[in-house]
Amino acid sequence: MKAGIYVHIPFCESRCIYCGFYSTTAKDWCTRYVDALLKEMRMRSDELRSLYPDNECTIDTVYIGGGTPSTLSTEDIARIINTIKEVYPCTTREITMEMNPDDVTPALITSVRTLGVNRISLGVQTFSDERLRFIRRRHNAAQAVKAVETIRRAGIDNISIDLMFGFPYETLDDWQNDLNTALKLRPNHISAYSLMYEEGTPLYLLLQNGKIKQTDDDTCLAMYTMLMDTLSANGYEHYEISNFCLPGYRAIHNSSYWNDTPYLGFGAAAHSYNLLTRSWNVADIKEYINTIKRGKLPSDSERIDNDTHYDDIITTAMRTHEGVDLKRLKPEYRDYALRSAKSDIDGGLLELTNDHLRLTRKGLFVSDMVMSNLMKV
Ligand code: SF4
Repeated sequence: MKAGIYVHIPFCESRCIYCGFYSTTAKDWCTRYVDALLKEMRMRSDELRSLYPDNECTIDTVYIGGGTPSTLSTEDIARIINTIKEVYPCTTREITMEMNPDDVTPALITSVRTLGVNRISLGVQTFSDERLRFIRRRHNAAQAVKAVETIRRAGIDNISIDLMFGFPYETLDDWQNDLNTALKLRPNHISAYSLMYEEGTPLYLLLQNGKIKQTDDDTCLAMYTMLMDTLSANGYEHYEISNFCLPGYRAIHNSSYWNDTPYLGFGAAAHSYNLLTRSWNVADIKEYINTIKRGKLPSDSERIDNDTHYDDIITTAMRTHEGVDLKRLKPEYRDYALRSAKSDIDGGLLELTNDHLRLTRKGLFVSDMVMSNLMKV
């Protein structure tokens, strides 16, 4: 059995105004946090083996995300990767590390490449200095362009960039310019999301107080259409609602979330999934560190019943180009899915091909509604 490992590094130099992820600027906790991470890895070394004793379980992918993993010292990054290799049987095809453009240096890339990192996910967001300043990113557009070049020159050629669209007052021309700049860099992978106004974030407050105006739905849909058309015209495969890649460069780790592969999540706020249960660690670094120090796991879990498992398959696999493989469903769930899909198939939002139920282009624009029509719970 193949599994993935996710490591959460909840530290950032500063907080971006839209961010709803768990992270802190208290970087003096980094090394104590990494000590706890390594202990958690050792404490859970038998977790999958004890559940599946007849099935040798190897780690196929590692994803070091955050927060900002590139704020860690190279020594701490080495301790994390070396402990994974020591504690878990690895046949790792992909080790991804998230980085912020302003952290990228030739020395950092060379060190992580030597440790086995073979994919970098770069938080670019936009190539507009004005929009970067508005969302309080620390880098500017020139640094993002330079970071891509530095990563390549230092020997890692599998690069993903994150982009966002739908900023307040952003026009379709602005978004086309961002896409054109991205295409000039020819990253292997592009993830693109519309800006979200998550409750509790400073961005949400600006909206609530009438200081900014949210981009209207029609413009956001036009931006999404532009994204799909521009990237597919330039050779990118649209393999998941928000993800595009050059041929052969799908994100293997992220794909495992969409195809029901187990993963172990380490660190504060990290989630895990072992096909039977879902668990999540406490979203507080001090509590995380202190609980691990006491030899306990700081997590809660829930058992996944059949209905929940079916819903999970719908909300993950349906996001992919291939859609839901109906052969993976038990007969009663397959029948339920087909019955529930009928009106959306008739309406041109879903299509059924080779036993796969998938979103049409029209369905991509209303994917949340289509998925909820198929769900059980
Ligand atoms: S760097 Fe990333 S994780 Fe940190 S605050 Fe900004 S968006 Fe959030």
